Amino acid sequence: MSDLLRVRDLSTRFFTEKGQVNACESLNFDVREEEVFGVVGESGSGKSVAALSIIDLVESPGKITSGEVWYRNPTLAEETKSDRPEAVDGEFVDIRQLTVRERRALRGPSFSMIFQDPMSSLNPSITVGEQIAEAVEVQKRARSNPRSTRSRTQGYGLANLISSAVLPSQDYVSEESHAEAVSLLEQVGIPDPADRAEEYPHQFSGGMLQRAMIAQALAGEPDLLIADEPTTALDVTIQAQILDLLRDLQTETGMSIMLITHNLGVVARMCDRVGVMYAGELVERGSLEDVFDRPVHPYTKGLLGSLPDLEDPAPRLQPIEGNVPDLLDSEMDDRCYFADRCPKAMEECLSHPSMDDAGGSDEHEARCVLTEMEYDESRALASDRFERNSGTAETEVKQND
Ligand code: SF4
Repeated sequence: MSDLLRVRDLSTRFFTEKGQVNACESLNFDVREEEVFGVVGESGSGKSVAALSIIDLVESPGKITSGEVWYRNPTLAEETKSDRPEAVDGEFVDIRQLTVRERRALRGPSFSMIFQDPMSSLNPSITVGEQIAEAVEVQKRARSNPRSTRSRTQGYGLANLISSAVLPSQDYVSEESHAEAVSLLEQVGIPDPADRAEEYPHQFSGGMLQRAMIAQALAGEPDLLIADEPTTALDVTIQAQILDLLRDLQTETGMSIMLITHNLGVVARMCDRVGVMYAGELVERGSLEDVFDRPVHPYTKGLLGSLPDLEDPAPRLQPIEGNVPDLLDSEMDDRCYFADRCPKAMEECLSHPSMDDAGGSDEHEARCVLTEMEYDESRALASDRFERNSGTAETEVKQND
């Protein structure tokens, strides 16, 4: 399968009162067509910021400070190459070099996102059907004039408010879009979709709300669906149903999915390839088999070690001691960011490691000195070498669903 997205050296920082926070640091990964690419890591590892950076939804005080996001879209490449040839490479366009308006126009037909808490993502005062129909209408208007944001927003704003006070009201959303919303609800498995479309979010269960969010995200028929912890707020049986639904939709539509999760069970069930994130960096990347069967990075091994094994239940799961650092630039030394928690930290780990071949498939890489040398106990760092972050990691790694 060819690449749909190539992320290169993407860095995002937050400029806070306490100082600069390096939420994502030089990320490099690809998402291929028709695959599920998993991004896994603890809370605070930078997974969600990476997704928001791709879709250009990072809000102040955050800022994407460097990097490229190459998106394969032959039509867009053709349209862009005459006035910005540097933003085009064959069929790929670096969307970081597009204008804000052009990037915004990609949301929906190119990239769409579902968030982990559907209850706070939907407007409680508008029916579910109306909210999905709006998404359909926005995409329809954008398709008719892809470079115009006005087409997306006609029907809203101060001018419309004034004109609606003196002129007979006109619906922003057409009957056709309403019908499409009902059909989307049906596609995601909502029973009696025409009736349920008339209900408000509080009348939906958690699982149904997540299905509605997925329906809304599908309104633009995206090439890439970014699913940020899509099952976290759901109980286990509903989680399984939502994951099956995402897989079925992916097969049916041919879209790619970037699945963000802290749950290795979800990764094992869903993903073709995986990137493991720690402290804003990718620390291991490879196929599902590379990461699950031949992990190299001690953090990946720690995550796997904290997974319960039904066939060989250990008396206690092995937590990873300590916490993810708070990523303040002033406190990030030039060393391996995992060194203060790593059981194999050696003197070599005081230099920041780069991603290197980790010995599995062609694409298996890890950011660890153990890709090049064996662990040498005589070179181990003293356990009090760093001021360890207290507590035990929130490795909420759960059993396979
Ligand atoms: S580079 Fe060193 S400290 Fe970092 S994960 Fe590898 S062995 Fe551990």
